[in-house]
Amino acid sequence: MKGDDAPGTEERNLLRAQIEQCYGQLPIALAANVLNGAILTAVLWATIETVVLLGWFALLVAVSLARLHTLRTFRAAPRDGAFEPNRWKGPFRVGAFGAGLVWGLAGIVLFHPESFPHQVLLAFLLGGMVAGAIPLLSAVRHAYPLFAIPVALASITRMVMVGDTIHLTMGLIMGVFSLAMLASSAQVRRIFRESESLRRRLSSSIEESQVLEELIRRDALTGIPNRRLFEEQLQKEWRRAERDGLPLAIISADIDHFKKYNDRYGHQAGDKCLIKVAQAMQHALSRPGDIVARMGGEEFAFLLPGTTPSGAQSVAEQVRRGISGLNLPHEGSPVAPMVTVSMGIASSGSQSVTSPAELLHASDVALYEAKRRGRNQSVAIDQ
Ligand code: GH3
Ligand code: MG
Ligand code: MG
Repeated sequence: MKGDDAPGTEERNLLRAQIEQCYGQLPIALAANVLNGAILTAVLWATIETVVLLGWFALLVAVSLARLHTLRTFRAAPRDGAFEPNRWKGPFRVGAFGAGLVWGLAGIVLFHPESFPHQVLLAFLLGGMVAGAIPLLSAVRHAYPLFAIPVALASITRMVMVGDTIHLTMGLIMGVFSLAMLASSAQVRRIFRESESLRRRLSSSIEESQVLEELIRRDALTGIPNRRLFEEQLQKEWRRAERDGLPLAIISADIDHFKKYNDRYGHQAGDKCLIKVAQAMQHALSRPGDIVARMGGEEFAFLLPGTTPSGAQSVAEQVRRGISGLNLPHEGSPVAPMVTVSMGIASSGSQSVTSPAELLHASDVALYEAKRRGRNQSVAIDQ
């Protein structure tokens, strides 16, 4: 159970992604601001009073530098558990609003009273800024309106102040255009959040399915690999052994008189015994490619890639010693006063073995022979 804070955590992660997105775009926004400001200043150089023009541009640079400072502080903030995405919303909005005010100011003080082409140029630039800011500012709620509304309002006001039909129409168009951009920005933010949340859910379900994939290949009682994993590995290792011309060995192992163990000590004790035996078997293995799986009941199998029959014999001996080292009493056993196993060894080098299934079968035949010969021993099939 994830608990009541799960939606909060989800929201926090989403917000963090939104914040990272916006700050990630900020360098582009700042470059566009300063560059467009410089172009506008250059174009209006001869037509607008130099003091006004330079004053406005200096203001734009100052606001951009302040936003750059925020960006640097944001980048330097450690991304650990203490990282608080909420803390970064405010400075981002303030920066966007500051830029909105500066560009809004341009709509008024850089509006050339007589030159219509210059007015059109200014309206074109401001409209472009309002539209271009959508991908840059939309991820954080309110940041885009804080930028776009001052720009649009100032520009519309200036047009209305002129009062003739053409300027009123331009103001109206600017208004319609701005409303459309505001709606579009809200949509962009919604889509960003939806896709981010989908991305998160997808990656967590991939992780979950990887865990499930792992679980269905594990034996629930002992935690060691199960028959499914064993058979998959056997197919792989068989092909690899053929390709590389290396031997492949299997040891089938079965606890002796385990039914009697259950009868005497109870099923629960039987389960505990299985767990201990499985652990001892796993401890007996040393090579990374070796695996031991519980094939069902009290039966186990070892897959030993690159292992010769004599190598497999010595692994079997190690397993036998490991299990007798557990010293688990088994008073009902006619073989020994403690838990013992019988083992059958088969190797891919044998002439009778031409497939993985035959290799497994051969080790079972050898195991049967070990049982027949009196249990508590290992038998290798004839080569
Ligand atoms: P043998 O020496 O010939 O192998 O005799 P055995 O009694 O071990 O073999 P048999 O196949 O007759 O019985 C196996 C027993 O293993 C039957 C069952 O009681 C026990 N067993 C199988 N799976 C489990 C399990 O998950 N937990 C427990 N506690 N016992 C199990
Ligand atoms: Mg048995
Ligand atoms: Mg058995």
